[in-house]
Amino acid sequence: MAKKLKAVIAGGGLGGMATAVALGMRGWDVTVYERQNALRAAGSGIYIWENGLRVLEALGAYDAAVEGAFHGHYFEQRDNRGEIIESAPIPADKRLITVKRSQLLAALAEAARKHGVRVETSMEVIGATPRGELLFANGQRVRADLAIGVDGIWSRVRLSLGLEILHEQTVEGALRTVIPAQPGDIPEQDGGKYIENWNGKRRFLITPINDDEIYLALTCPGNDEAARATTVDKALWSADFPAWRHLIERIGAEVSWGVYSVTKARTWSSGHAAILGDAAHAQPPNLGQGGGMAMQMGLALSVALADVRDARDIPAALEAWEAAERPLVEHCQKWSCLYGEVAFLPDEVRTRTIRAAMSDPWVSAQVFRAANSLPTGTEHLLPWSERARVAV
Ligand SMILES: Cc1cc2nc3c(=O)[nH]c(=O)nc-3n(C[C@H](O)[C@H](O)[C@H](O)COP(=O)(O)OP(=O)(O)OC[C@H]3O[C@@H](n4cnc5c(N)ncnc54)[C@H](O)[C@@H]3O)c2cc1C
Repeated sequence: MAKKLKAVIAGGGLGGMATAVALGMRGWDVTVYERQNALRAAGSGIYIWENGLRVLEALGAYDAAVEGAFHGHYFEQRDNRGEIIESAPIPADKRLITVKRSQLLAALAEAARKHGVRVETSMEVIGATPRGELLFANGQRVRADLAIGVDGIWSRVRLSLGLEILHEQTVEGALRTVIPAQPGDIPEQDGGKYIENWNGKRRFLITPINDDEIYLALTCPGNDEAARATTVDKALWSADFPAWRHLIERIGAEVSWGVYSVTKARTWSSGHAAILGDAAHAQPPNLGQGGGMAMQMGLALSVALADVRDARDIPAALEAWEAAERPLVEHCQKWSCLYGEVAFLPDEVRTRTIRAAMSDPWVSAQVFRAANSLPTGTEHLLPWSERARVAV
């Protein structure tokens, strides 16, 4: 029997765990090293579009990830008067599901366990080498056929390999929280909707994640000191979004504030080391695709390596993976950044811009290109619309 190829992964977030499952399924010996003392998802809820959902299916983590989750059918934007700017149905054959991050990560961790992936926590990676090594803060070093940095926006792996060409933080940021849902929270006519409310440069995004919880994102520029206070100024936000006062009142005592990052790397690999996810291609969350892209790139990486029998062929396989996948990721990053710019337009101009853009089939195709993409490694899964027909 051929010797098992060995991968070591820095970072046990969505991208790292998806990559670990994908490689484990293909017979690799995989160990994930996570800095925290447990696998723990930062943040509250997360949007997963059709592409990410297909990846979860291919990884065998879909059912557990979306159990009880909210499957919305409309994405609606409203202006400063509460009037609808745009109310776009989400096509029946394209799923958008919002889930709790902790549930999604737990589903990936369980799939990883089934495929023999080992997870070592409290292990801080401080770098990697093109020889397939990970270096740790405690002085340890491990060597494998492949070292993968999925260690997030401040990636030590990216920096140590000299791959970084850009790490920029956006002006805009978000307060994110989950509140308990109560009957009547969302008016009946708004059931099944994701609702993005605008007022000046402030935005209030309402996202149910299951029957019991609603994920709220309150976004504004980082220099809007009053609005970004982590002890949320409920009077201020309620004055801007009066229709949602009842939700704002329920926000807890302390909420975390975070800005968004954009990262770009010269290449995604160097010899026997690779990077992916936010470490390689972080994007603002405007299209809800950062996590989807991280998982999608992890699965694609495992497919690119599927035929490798001799470790010496890994560097070429990594280059082929990047050449195939990078254009979609960069497209998605660009359009996510572009969408972010509408936050800085005056209200009336924003309304006209969103309406014009979203009614233009070309613009809409660009915005949803990642969501509509067929992720590498999911070709065997029928389109969602056809599955319903087969099931009948
Ligand atoms: C406000 C906001 C909203 C978002 N909403 C969405 C959304 O709706 N849909 C979507 O798809 N994406 C969304 N994203 C993006 C998404 O969260 C990220 O793209 C995704 O989490 C990237 O996964 P990752 O595994 O690459 O990185 P991370 O999730 O950051 O995971 C990195 C892991 O590495 C660990 N780590 C870090 N440094 C080290 C080290 N030195 N050694 C060992 N371990 C280390 C961390 O503890 C962490 O566990 C959002 C992002 C933000 C900021």
